[in-house]
Amino acid sequence: MKLLIFGPPGSGKGTYANLMRKKLNVIPLSTGDIFREAVKNKTELGEKVAEFLRKGELVPDDLVIEVVKSELEKIGDSSFILDGYPRTVRQAEALEDMTAIDAIIQLIVPNKIIIERLSNRRICPKCGAIYNLKTLKPKCDEKCDRCGTHLIQREDDKPEVIQNRLERYREQTRPILKYFKGKVPIIKVASRKVDQDPKVVVDRIIQKLRDLGLIG
Ligand code: ADP
Ligand code: ZN
Repeated sequence: MKLLIFGPPGSGKGTYANLMRKKLNVIPLSTGDIFREAVKNKTELGEKVAEFLRKGELVPDDLVIEVVKSELEKIGDSSFILDGYPRTVRQAEALEDMTAIDAIIQLIVPNKIIIERLSNRRICPKCGAIYNLKTLKPKCDEKCDRCGTHLIQREDDKPEVIQNRLERYREQTRPILKYFKGKVPIIKVASRKVDQDPKVVVDRIIQKLRDLGLIG
C-alpha cells in the first residue's frame, strides 16, 4: 500500500503517520524529518537545507526530488506513507514518474487550531517523538516519555516562521490537490478540535482505507 498524507503544517501528518506505522505496517517517510536529521548531523545535505528550514521556506525542488527518489529506492516494495512530500506541482509530477500512489489522506484543520497546535508543539531531539504541552503532554516535565531526553521547540514553530509556512502551504502546496483530483482517491479527514485524540483520527482513516478496499 502506497499512501500520501497531506495537509497544512501542524495538521498532524507526522503524528498520524507514526501511529499508522504500528497499525498498518507502513513505513513513514517524512522529508521534514530527513532534513532535520541532516541538519542535526551537519551532513552535506544538512548544510544545503538548514537556511530554508530555519525560515520556513521550501527546499528547492531538485534537491527534494533527489532525496525522495533515493529513499523510495531503499524502501523497494514495502508499504509506505509519504509525509511532507510532494509540496509543489513539480514534486507531484516527479512522484508520478517514481511510483503510483493508492490513496491520499487529506487532513482538514482550521487555521486558528493550527497556530495553537504549532506553538505548543515540542519534539524529542533524540528519538523524534512529538508532544503538545496542552493536548499530548509528556508524563514528566518536558522530558520524552520514550527516552527521557529534554524536549525542545522546533525553530520553525516560532510565531514569525509559522506564518511563513502557512503562506507557503497556501500558495505552493494546496494547489497540488487539484493536480491529483480524479487520478488518485482522496480521503478527507477533518479535525476541528485542538485536543482531538490522534487515535480516533487514525481509526477513522483506517476505516476509510477499508471502504476503499485497500485493507482487509
Ligand atoms: P510541517 O509540515 O509541519 O511544516 P515538515 O516537517 O513537513 O513540517 O517540514 C519542515 C520543513 O522542511 C519545511 O518548512 C521545508 O523547509 C522543508 N521541507 C520538508 N518537505 C519539503 C518538501 N517536500 N519540499 C520542500 N521543502 C520541504
Ligand atoms: Zn525521545
